Amino acid sequence: MSLKSFFTHLIDDESSHPESTHTPREARSTVSSADDALEEVLVTLVNSAPKEGEAGKISAKISKICDRWGMGGTPYLEIPSLVLEQRRAEKEWFESNVRSLAEAVLTVLRRLGKSAGSVREEGKSLGSHLEELRTATKSESLPELRKTVLAAVEQMTEELKANQERQTREMTQISGELENLKGELSRVRKEATLDGLTRVANRASLDEHLEAVLAVHRITGRPCSLLMVDIDHFKAVNDRLGHLAGDAALRAVADCLVRSFPRRSDFVGRYGGEEFCIVLSEDAADTGKRLGERFLQAIRKLEVTTSEEPFTLTVSMGIAEPGEAETVEEWVSFADRLLYKAKDEGRDRLVCTGEPDTKTD
Ligand code: GH3
Ligand code: MG
Ligand code: MG
Repeated sequence: MSLKSFFTHLIDDESSHPESTHTPREARSTVSSADDALEEVLVTLVNSAPKEGEAGKISAKISKICDRWGMGGTPYLEIPSLVLEQRRAEKEWFESNVRSLAEAVLTVLRRLGKSAGSVREEGKSLGSHLEELRTATKSESLPELRKTVLAAVEQMTEELKANQERQTREMTQISGELENLKGELSRVRKEATLDGLTRVANRASLDEHLEAVLAVHRITGRPCSLLMVDIDHFKAVNDRLGHLAGDAALRAVADCLVRSFPRRSDFVGRYGGEEFCIVLSEDAADTGKRLGERFLQAIRKLEVTTSEEPFTLTVSMGIAEPGEAETVEEWVSFADRLLYKAKDEGRDRLVCTGEPDTKTD
């Protein structure tokens, strides 16, 4: 194929490439004349030239001139200056493209640099990639820049993925630890409300509960009652069988209370020493009295087992509704007074609000 026919072919293709069309062709491996050699040079030039911008336009111009040459003109004189012009335009095109790519890479680098700053460990590794990229942006070679950018991005992606996986693992571990902590916290919180010896509510949570029940009662008028329990002659138990036997008796009485008042609305707490309270938040004193009688019977049957001999106990009880009580202390003192009335009346019994005096001398 002659140079003339080659460029005629190029011009034919121009219709499908409006601005700078020149269809790339395979360069031949052998040449036989000066025309062929020039043809190969120009094929290579047009093929490798950018398809856009000034360089593209000049390539199209070369194609047109060669076409005129094919029609009998003499293009040789124009070709050197056009090739020179085209090379200059091509250089400018590359330079401006490398510059804009370098700017884009630098923008990404700055952004990554910011992220890297917040994650120190990752930052060290990212920092070295960023340095590679920074160096690469100074390069004039587009392929080299592209290769470096791709390699660095690939490696950074892998490292970020590994970091994400590590963070996910750490978060799972942390949230597991938080769950344990939450469980431990609620265990400790619960523990703080319990009496250490008897495992029923301690005095602080008993007072809190009484406050709440009294407040609800005062607002809604809902019936409620307080039962005070005191073990009879408990000092004698300690004196006769020792304090460990006394402790065992306190635990046994508390267990019996929990079994005897199992409803959600029944609240059992240790008031202090050998005294306990049951707060019935939904029952008036008559129900309290019935439940209290049942408890008295259960206690009479209860055998406290110790390393020594087993023994039995009795308790006395006072049962009071809040009545006109303004405060928890007042309400407690009502029940306490009735309890001491029960003691006074002979122990092993209960006295309820409004009951006639049954004291027998
Ligand atoms: P009463 O029938 O009049 O209630 O007589 P009491 O002996 O039960 O009452 P008193 O108030 O005289 O004695 C209460 C005893 O309870 C004295 C105290 O040492 C004992 N006590 C208080 N707390 C504990 C405790 O946690 N463990 C033991 N083992 N004894 C306790
Ligand atoms: Mg007492
Ligand atoms: Mg007592």
